[in-house]
Amino acid sequence: MRLSPIALCLALSACASARPAAPTTSQPAPVTVNAPPTAARPRVVVTLVVDQFAAWIAAERLAALPDTGGFARLRREGTWYTRMRYAHAATDTAPGHSSLYTAATPRESGILANEVPDARGQRVSILRDEQTRTVGFDGPIDAAGSSIARLRVPTLADRVREAVPGAVIVSVSLKDRGAIFGGGRHPDAVLWFDAVRDTFVTSTAFANAMPAWARASGSTEAVRALRATPWTLSDEAWVRAHAATPDAQPGEGDLEGWGTTFPHDFSRARKPGSALRASPRGDMAVLALAGDAVEHARDPQRPMLLAISLSSNDYVGHLFGPDSWEAWDQLRQLDASLARFFARLDGLVGADGWAVVLSADHGIVSLPEVQTVAGARPWCASSTPDPWERPCGPLSRLDPDAVARDLQAAAVTALGPGAWVLGVADPYVYLTPAALALPAPRRRTLMDALVRRARAYPETERVVETDAVAPSCATDDTVEALLCRSIPAESGASLYIQTRAGAFFDSGYALGFGTSHGSPYLFDRTVPLFVRAPGHAEAGRVVDEPVPFTRFRETAERLVVE
Ligand SMILES: [Zn+2]
Repeated sequence: MRLSPIALCLALSACASARPAAPTTSQPAPVTVNAPPTAARPRVVVTLVVDQFAAWIAAERLAALPDTGGFARLRREGTWYTRMRYAHAATDTAPGHSSLYTAATPRESGILANEVPDARGQRVSILRDEQTRTVGFDGPIDAAGSSIARLRVPTLADRVREAVPGAVIVSVSLKDRGAIFGGGRHPDAVLWFDAVRDTFVTSTAFANAMPAWARASGSTEAVRALRATPWTLSDEAWVRAHAATPDAQPGEGDLEGWGTTFPHDFSRARKPGSALRASPRGDMAVLALAGDAVEHARDPQRPMLLAISLSSNDYVGHLFGPDSWEAWDQLRQLDASLARFFARLDGLVGADGWAVVLSADHGIVSLPEVQTVAGARPWCASSTPDPWERPCGPLSRLDPDAVARDLQAAAVTALGPGAWVLGVADPYVYLTPAALALPAPRRRTLMDALVRRARAYPETERVVETDAVAPSCATDDTVEALLCRSIPAESGASLYIQTRAGAFFDSGYALGFGTSHGSPYLFDRTVPLFVRAPGHAEAGRVVDEPVPFTRFRETAERLVVE
């Protein structure tokens, strides 16, 4: 058997020098799995990303969940790294998932943000690819699909495909950016939910047809069945006891009729597909599909990599905030859904037959309106600094489209009439082709005007010209180094606007309401990592020292391949 560098270094106890340098200076720690393997390799390795599941949420809330839940099982049977840190500043879903699955920063991977502006300045998915078509259960649809073409580095799945060509690789998510990095360039199936078409889809970049096994849980009919009853609280007393704010807390966003109070009736939502995502039912849809993949797409003779991204937590957090009744019930229902999914895996491959490596793509910050709610930010009353760097100052939203209009006006003042600013796809500002073609002195005038204007926003901490980033980034965790590792060469963007702690770009799900993430501070940049791998990872262990984000991929790769 060929030994990879990681397997070799585990054998030789010389990991620090043998593995590639991690791009963060978080304390070096032994690579990946922390117990000598005492068991055969698991037949199914599940990588699971809970979108917006901050390390601070895990640290403060998991103990409140029932012993029968999925997180209690992970804690009993696995190792919990309480602080895994990203090495980039733009803590959003696409940079987070790409970092997890490539062990590379956005600077190296090219995945700098969730979205980029199209030729008209409208934000579109960074993975949208006009050369591809979306594929539904009836075949290709005349609509642009998504692909992995923008990714500049290999993924975990690519590495698995290379090492074990017959491995079964399936990835499932509510978002293209949650699915595609996990599936890599040659998945057996990569599926995500299309909220407009109300069905799971794939892209001609990966397949010309949906897999037959996906119909039972991924079709429009299956999705509609999940919306037949309203989202109600699973335990109202428990939610009341824990949530820092009332059910109808000001600042909560109404997603086009979805409402801000329980029960959330799907028939009231004008966009039922979007409402599904913003409820625990979205995760249930993904986990049902993922379980079906293990039951119907697995080859017992070959290893299986199953990548799952659960994004309901992110939509719920954006709309209602992390202190809401909705967020607490989402966590409780996610916990129960995970327990059921793990039990299904037990039934399909035995409790020792599967491993899970679970983490998150980024964290979250409080809803701005909770700054006036007594006791909602308890860290602000503490005499010791908050270990998650959560803000105590004012919290506020920055509308990216308003910023784009304002910067365009500043450009006209500086240069005269013309279309100079193409758009803002946070945290980046993009210029039009006409602006990029300006002679150097005029371009300098434009950039100076834009930087001056963007710096004047009360929400701004720093403005960085992407062209001015050093050719090589420092390896420390200063904000300058984190920003440097966020910005790829030839990014296409011109400015990076870094918001101060507590300010954020409005996610736009309910403009002017809700909250978001994306900052370089520890509340957004630190996530938990759970490794449950019988015979490979120590059970019941908690590791509080920071570990680098590269730990996710190293661990999963070792479990599947080596
Ligand atoms: Zn988000």
